Parts: sequence; structure tokens; C-alpha cells
Amino acid sequence: MNIDLIFGKTTEHLVHLEGTRFFIHQQMLHDYLKLQKAAREAGFDLQIVSAFRDYDRQLSIWNAKARGERPLLDDLERVLDYSKLSPTELLFAILRWSAIPGCSRHHWGSDVDIFDAKTQTVDQVKLIPSECIGSGPAAPLHEWLDQKMAQNEAFGFFRPYSTDQGGVAPERWHLSYYPISRRVVDVFTFSLFKKHIETSDMELKEIILENASEIFERFLMRFDLP
Ligand SMILES: [Zn+2]
Repeated sequence: MNIDLIFGKTTEHLVHLEGTRFFIHQQMLHDYLKLQKAAREAGFDLQIVSAFRDYDRQLSIWNAKARGERPLLDDLERVLDYSKLSPTELLFAILRWSAIPGCSRHHWGSDVDIFDAKTQTVDQVKLIPSECIGSGPAAPLHEWLDQKMAQNEAFGFFRPYSTDQGGVAPERWHLSYYPISRRVVDVFTFSLFKKHIETSDMELKEIILENASEIFERFLMRFDLP
């Protein structure tokens, strides 16, 4: 595997998803279309709101959050007061919802954020937990996905952020394609992570390095399996 794939620095593994502005891993296309078709037959319009994201895009999200230019949410979807956070608190608040540049599963092309286009327009989608549970607009789609995943009929897709393990917050909308993402995880070592940070330039870099082993364990390697 090309190591650049891990860090969002290559697009050679991607294919354009017809009729959208998104790119996904070429080896995932077939099964993604199958999942979408099964959803359609069940009465849903499963669509992507975010797919492949490159390093520079993640860098701009990260830096904007670290500079207080984008709102930071706590676990209850309340906006945090940027001015009251220490740099370490800021780092871990961002990590709950956003990945360090080079460390997002969205770099891999195997991971997508989805919604039900029958009940929301793409502009309405906020990607917050309340959309995907209870009476939320994407809740029925996700209940259907729960069933398909439990029956092993989700064509290789699973939710890496299904439960709260103290790392990334639960994100029911985030699906991962196991045949690909498993292979990336297998080669993504702590030393690769550390070297990547050391050789990159981003906001909070020094504090990331001070907390490197905790970040790697909690926010990169702790996730749910199929
Ligand atoms: Zn996501």
C-alpha cells in the first residue's frame, strides 16, 4: 500500500462517484452501489455528504477549529467557549469531533458520511447525533442499517464510531468499508503517526507531540469493529 494513502496525500486510489462531487476508493464502488440500491428498495435515498477528503482540506478544518474560527461542540451539541479552553483542553475538544490532518479515516476513500435525501436536503445536514436517532430525519435509515449490519448484509460497511469508547464521539452517520479500512489500520503504526506529525506543520503541533501516544491509542486505534 502506498503510505501516502494513509495521510490523504494521494488520489490514485479514488474513483469519481457518478452524479456527485465525491470520490471514493475504487475497490469500494461496487459494494457502495449495492448498499445504496438495497436502501432504495427499502424506501430510503442513501446519499453521501462527505467522502474522500485530502490532507489540505483536513488541515484547513483543523486550523480553523484550533484558531477558534469554527464552532467547537461538546458531547451535548453545545458550543464551547473557545476563550476559556487551555491549549490541551482545546486539542482534546477538537479531537472529539475532528481528526488531526493526516489522521482522518476520510483520507482513505473507504469512509463516508451519509444521510437520507428523502428527508433532508444536503444543506440541511449538520452531522449531529440527534439527526440519526429517535425522531431525527435520518433515524429510520440508520435503524434499517442497524438491521442490515446485524444480519451481515451491509456489503462490508460498518460503523467505526458506533459506541463511545472515550475517543471519537459516536457518529452514526460515518460508515466505513471494512475490506479497505482494515488494511489501512494494519499498516498504520505509532511510529508512522509520530513521524508524520514531526514532519508536518499544523496548529497545536507541539501539544499533539506531547500527547502523541494517548492520541494514537484513543483517537486513531480505538473504534468499533463490524
Ligand atoms: Zn465521517
